Amino acid sequence: MDYQGIIEEIAALVRPEFGKGKVADYIPALAKVPASKFGIAVRTLSGDTFQVGDAEEAFSIQSISKVFALAQAYPIYGEALWERVGMEPSGNPFNSLVQLEYEKGIPRNPFINAGALVITDMLIEHFPKPKTRMLDFIRELSGSDDVYYDYEVTRSEREFGFTNAALVNFMKSHYNIKAPVEQVLDVYFHQCSVAMNCRELASAFLLLANHGVHPRNGQRILTKSQAKRINAIMLTCGFYDEAGEFAFCVGLPGKSGVGGGIVAVIPNELSIAVWSPELNEHGNSQAGIKALELFTTMTEMSIF
Ligand code: GLU
Repeated sequence: MDYQGIIEEIAALVRPEFGKGKVADYIPALAKVPASKFGIAVRTLSGDTFQVGDAEEAFSIQSISKVFALAQAYPIYGEALWERVGMEPSGNPFNSLVQLEYEKGIPRNPFINAGALVITDMLIEHFPKPKTRMLDFIRELSGSDDVYYDYEVTRSEREFGFTNAALVNFMKSHYNIKAPVEQVLDVYFHQCSVAMNCRELASAFLLLANHGVHPRNGQRILTKSQAKRINAIMLTCGFYDEAGEFAFCVGLPGKSGVGGGIVAVIPNELSIAVWSPELNEHGNSQAGIKALELFTTMTEMSIF
């Protein structure tokens, strides 16, 4: 199928969304990203690429990196992973502290900050160089050596990372963090600051459209069941406290980040990445969600 005409039409149709949201301003490095950026890339399992707008411009993937972290940890720890992090939607903002208290330091899922910090701790335990490994993993999946750590974002995350520090300390007090607090935060802030573009993101997420097999070299990275489960968690937990509405309007597993990126997959078919930095009140890209809603409506493709 030729998606080029569809994504070009979508790029025009989402223009009225511009100006409705607000670029993330919790750190200065993100606040200065131009609000008008917009890109879409579609990669199909049959090897085609379609793109429009700023699809080749790198941006901060932020929470989207939580999927890459889980995809590394899951094959290593298997089902034991779920002893330290849950699989339920939180219905709360990404950095919420409250639920951790009555759940005794076990975060609700791997895609809120607390859960991602536990996954980071697991990666530190396993890999001698977790930061290098993360970058290599994303480069292997995306097929691009241009993916990099944006150190200005890393520094900003560290400078303003008080809530994340509180989360790690709280979980450490419940023995759900093993490495030193500073090390967990350092690896996590690096992971949040990974910069890559829509085309690279769409390429990397083909893994999850392809049941855990690397789409280009055929290597199995996740079991079929692990890929299915990561997709399930993206569907239920991938959009902070707006996961229900995203499933309702778009109907695809996906993950967003406060850099304005969203990536979603249609198993057996394709992955699609959208970038537009203005966020709605839930921290999800305003125009990005609209674009994906239009994509599943116009192509009549969703998982339902
Ligand atoms: N770097 C952000 C934080 O940990 C991640 C925000 C996000 O994309 O959800 O606070």
